Amino acid sequence: MKEMYRKRILVTGGAGFLGSHLCERLVALGHDVLCADNFYTGTKDNIAHLLDCQNFEVMRHDITFPLYVEVDQIYNLACPASPVHYQLDPVQTTKTSVHGAINMLGLAKRVKARIFQASSSEVYGDARVHPQREDYWGHVNPIGPRSCYDEGKRCAETLFVDYRRQHGLSIKIARIFNTYGPRMHPDDGRVVSNFFMQALRGEPITVYGNGSQTRSFCYVDDMIDAFVRLMESADEVTGPINLGNPFEVSMLDIARQISELVGSNSEIAFRPLPTDDPWHRQPDVALARDLLDWKPRIGLAEGLLRTADYFRRARRQISDLQSA
Ligand code: NAD
Ligand code: UDP
Ligand code: UDP
Repeated sequence: MKEMYRKRILVTGGAGFLGSHLCERLVALGHDVLCADNFYTGTKDNIAHLLDCQNFEVMRHDITFPLYVEVDQIYNLACPASPVHYQLDPVQTTKTSVHGAINMLGLAKRVKARIFQASSSEVYGDARVHPQREDYWGHVNPIGPRSCYDEGKRCAETLFVDYRRQHGLSIKIARIFNTYGPRMHPDDGRVVSNFFMQALRGEPITVYGNGSQTRSFCYVDDMIDAFVRLMESADEVTGPINLGNPFEVSMLDIARQISELVGSNSEIAFRPLPTDDPWHRQPDVALARDLLDWKPRIGLAEGLLRTADYFRRARRQISDLQSA
């Protein structure tokens, strides 16, 4: 890569599921990548394969504290994404979204870096509009168990647009819908990891509620393509912009698909539906198609097939550790 194209890029949350794939992509593109992570839900394993690359660096850092580095771009991904994890320490979750955003925006302002925010479909809450378009304001409970995450992400969006209006920052806000793939934490608590691990162990597959609630799942490689396209888009493309795969599926359907894929004879066990669990979720991705010339390419069957190998390995590693 010519020096003029090589950028110094900070990825917060770079040791997590999406962050590690993003670091890998940016390193492969030849950029100088600095991963900052407090390893709350991320792991060193996720980035171990990058440590020998001379254009990759990692630092243990919690973004609720200020950070002084010199970079050209910032991808702000730090924040636990699984409801189980973000509800363990809800105050820290809000701090990460809000104080973390302030610190990263302050950094971007000082060094004149372009900054990307990993926002979420959760800003729409239990949506009353379907599919969700970017101009829908959402239906979010401000005081429920999911609020630390949902309201944290909403406040971060507010901070991003105000730093642009007030200080002229170059911002990119991605509203990410459910994404899955290799390197999801096996104990993540999210539906894809739970169902794979349960199916592989022959344990009951825990479907919450009656399983008719829906989500739309995007394979990780497609999502990382969209991140880089959004970051490299024209300055006036600020978002918020939906990123996800519009193919919608019920939890009961995905339980059956995963079970079949791994050849499991697990039974389905119905469990209570968590409070404020959104009923339906499907992105309208017309804006991403028009502005980024992007659409997801990997269908659910193909994506689950690629993910199955990863969970098989993860399960073997866990069993080896347990028997050692
Ligand atoms: P993840 O939990 O695997 O990764 C989050 C990373 O952030 C972890 O490495 C964690 O250790 C780190 N982190 C958490 N708090 C931190 C802090 N205070 N300081 C520094 N690092 C911190 O989750 P993910 O699925 O990779 O999600 C990445 C981002 O994308 C998150 O912001 C999440 O909200 C957003 N997102 C993800 C999805 C999805 O389906 N995966 C959907 C919507 C939004
Ligand atoms: N900040 C940071 N790194 C920098 C510059 C700022 O972490 O390189 C943090 C710092 O904690 C500051 C916050 O970003 O409080 C917001 O910065 P800003 O300049 O917007 O406001 P300030 O509070 O400094 O007036
Ligand atoms: N879910 C489930 N069984 C599980 C984990 C999750 O049925 O073991 C359901 C959950 O109730 C929700 C959907 O799967 O309706 C997606 O949950 P996840 O935690 O993956 O992400 P969310 O989209 O809710 O943030």
